[in-house]
Amino acid sequence: MPRLSKVLGGPQLFVKRDDQTGLAFGGNKTRKLEFLLAEAQSNGAQTLITTGSVQSNHCRQTAAAAARFGYECILVLTGKRPEQLNGNLLLDHLFGVKIIWVKDQEQRDAILNATFEHATAEGKRPFLVPYGGSNPIGVLGYTYAIEEFVDQGLDANWLVVASSSGGTQAGMELGKRIFGYRGKVLGISVDEEQSVLQQRVANLASSASEIIGRPSSFAPHDILVNADYCKAGYGIMTEREREAIGLFAKYEGLLIDPVYTGRAAGALIDLIRLGHFKKDDVVLFWHTGGLPALFADNYQSLIIRE
Ligand SMILES: *Cc1c(COP(=O)(O)O)cnc(C)c1O
Repeated sequence: MPRLSKVLGGPQLFVKRDDQTGLAFGGNKTRKLEFLLAEAQSNGAQTLITTGSVQSNHCRQTAAAAARFGYECILVLTGKRPEQLNGNLLLDHLFGVKIIWVKDQEQRDAILNATFEHATAEGKRPFLVPYGGSNPIGVLGYTYAIEEFVDQGLDANWLVVASSSGGTQAGMELGKRIFGYRGKVLGISVDEEQSVLQQRVANLASSASEIIGRPSSFAPHDILVNADYCKAGYGIMTEREREAIGLFAKYEGLLIDPVYTGRAAGALIDLIRLGHFKKDDVVLFWHTGGLPALFADNYQSLIIRE
């Protein structure tokens, strides 16, 4: 990102385009689903069930994958059905999913279990895709993403990535050990306390390492998480996200989203200004997707101010 590097006057910035992973506007969940759906297939599943928020990118990519591979799909979404269908929710409908609305996260797990049992009883052979695609199988998508990245030959000192359910960062941490990437992975917490996210990422990375027969143990202090930029709460756009979305668009013609990549990019920009990186560092921003949320109408008036 030469133009953005120049206006920020900091390290050399690069971007990895996982907003182009190919499944219905792309995103990081596609790499996880590649492995999760292999498991669903080998279990003889016919229906995918998963859960998330109204504008969940994970649910949208799961719904698209279900359509692509011929599964039925049931989404358990937390929140209220909005008047207008837009962003990811509009796409979920196009993929022909069934949606079950639940009030809050407390209700969610009970309804999710009941939905699974019901589908089993109906002979629909359900497969539960975990929240955010983040279980040890999903993590492998990002373990092998690091192999791809290492093969691409960019000698980056830092990988900066939005981190939430932790599977993406866990895969990167494991991939780093297996494929010999020597730089650092910095997870920008989107909505979680630092110590909670470090623990979650460490647990996922350790469990995933066993699945592929390369057991390795990760401790929370092995995991770099910055949680200074999530205080506003999940999905709440601040001046930081707004500025980041504007700068990426104006100087690189690149789109980032209000919830995840906007938050991570806002953090990256602030950390550059604070002198966190050396001038000759090479910093890779790992774009994890999320673009349909740009078109959820609750953000439009915040992104463009006239
Ligand atoms: C889910 C998501 C993330 C976070 O990934 P996790 O593996 O849940 O930590 C980051 N960016 C976008 C756009 C996402 O949809």
